[in-house]
Amino acid sequence: MKAYDGMYIGGAWRPAAGQDVIEVVNPADEQVIGTVPAGTAEDVDAAVRAARAALPAWAATPPAERAARLSALRDVLAARADEIAGTVTAELGSPLKFSQAVHAAVPIAVAGSYAELAATYSFEEKTGNSVVHHEPIGVVAAITPWNYPLHQIVAKVAPALAAGCTVVVKPAEDTPLVARLFADAVHKAGVPAGVFNLVTGLGPVAGQALAEHPGVDLVSFTGSTAVGRRIAAIAAGQVKKVALELGGKSANVILPSADLAKAVNVGVANVMSNSGQTCSAWTRMLVHRDHYDEAVELAATAAAKYGERIGPVVNAKQRDRVRGYIEKGVAEGARLVAGGPESPRETGYFVSPTVFADVTEGMTIAQEEIFGPVLSVLAYEDEEDALRIANGTVYGLAGAVWAGEEAEAVAFARRMETGQVDINGGRFNPLAPFGGYKQSGVGRELGVHGLAEYLQTKSLQF
Ligand code: NAP
Ligand code: MG
Repeated sequence: MKAYDGMYIGGAWRPAAGQDVIEVVNPADEQVIGTVPAGTAEDVDAAVRAARAALPAWAATPPAERAARLSALRDVLAARADEIAGTVTAELGSPLKFSQAVHAAVPIAVAGSYAELAATYSFEEKTGNSVVHHEPIGVVAAITPWNYPLHQIVAKVAPALAAGCTVVVKPAEDTPLVARLFADAVHKAGVPAGVFNLVTGLGPVAGQALAEHPGVDLVSFTGSTAVGRRIAAIAAGQVKKVALELGGKSANVILPSADLAKAVNVGVANVMSNSGQTCSAWTRMLVHRDHYDEAVELAATAAAKYGERIGPVVNAKQRDRVRGYIEKGVAEGARLVAGGPESPRETGYFVSPTVFADVTEGMTIAQEEIFGPVLSVLAYEDEEDALRIANGTVYGLAGAVWAGEEAEAVAFARRMETGQVDINGGRFNPLAPFGGYKQSGVGRELGVHGLAEYLQTKSLQF
């Protein structure tokens, strides 16, 4: 147990304005592993002022120099990969191997991608008698969740810095330690004072003060739809730009020609990874009625294998929320074929890997984001029916399609109302734009599209 001090503001760790702290708990054993200061509006104001003061010089820094800082940042993160993985495992509870392979490795790749993009992007273009300059949008407020705690910070900070913006980050209260580690890395990378600032604190206090601050030009938020809506409303009042990455209820569509066992096994792995706390998880598996019983059996077997390996969910509230959804699934008539609401262990916020069969479209578990290791298997009659079910939620963040031929899967994917689709198990690409259709959000992260979110244009006519 360690009491961490201070906020990273204006290039140094400064004492917090207030005395309150947030306890950081290891969800695997429920032990308090540390405390961080709970930021107030005063801390937020100091951080936004520092970011504003640093903006003109950073915006005027040549892109090649911004790229060099991002490249140095990538290297510092890479050198500290083990420490990152250990920290995420301690505060989020994810198994160490997953923390190494995903929570540490992906942010390193993303930071590297923006080092390259900053060096190669055309910040100036000609059209007719105009020269169009792509200028930084200004001071960015980044409000991030706990499920991929470092990735979600880097997916905002790296493109913002590449664009020439300055940033204030408010990380999730459950995972502030890896955010502090990141602030140290930014410092070691030689990013000038005030370009990056960190205020730990509670959402309704520090988060809200940051979203409301008139010195912020863009609020980039990842988290729940409920809070996203609030932030969009605050931003609308000040005509501030927002980027929102919200929830999902993505479909894994297995067409009759697909390799059923592979599609089911990869689908189950996708839902169980990170204990189901992935906004883009394919939590609805759609199977043709002729293959339904076989798919359900395969899914139940696959899920049972995760029983020993799965990590806890992030906190007690989340565990109770997920269990509540499982109970609701049973109450609404779905058939449990793996897992259930009972806790698999005495201590730690664990939830059993759960699979529901006989799920119909109207059920709560088929419509709402559960954010836990819970898969619903639904049957469809034909391709049109599958498409209707796949598109039948308010969300549209991700999805998967499996078919014998790629072309068949692509034709189906093109009709899905969603921002990302993996074809026959296609791999994650850190350069591909990520973001939602419909209520899954506004804007895109990652790659060149993610960079564009932090730029605005100025046209000069000659
Ligand atoms: P959340 O409350 O939306 O948290 C996201 C971030 O917003 C956190 O930093 C949070 O601070 C902050 N926040 C909360 N209230 C705020 C406010 N009024 N103004 C400004 N910032 C505020 O999400 P959650 O409570 O951690 O999780 C709830 C549900 O959201 C999950 O079960 C899941 O369905 C969804 N979720 C989605 C994603 C995603 O990637 N799309 C990620 C996480 C959660 P605190 O940490 O102090 O709350
Ligand atoms: Mg919250």
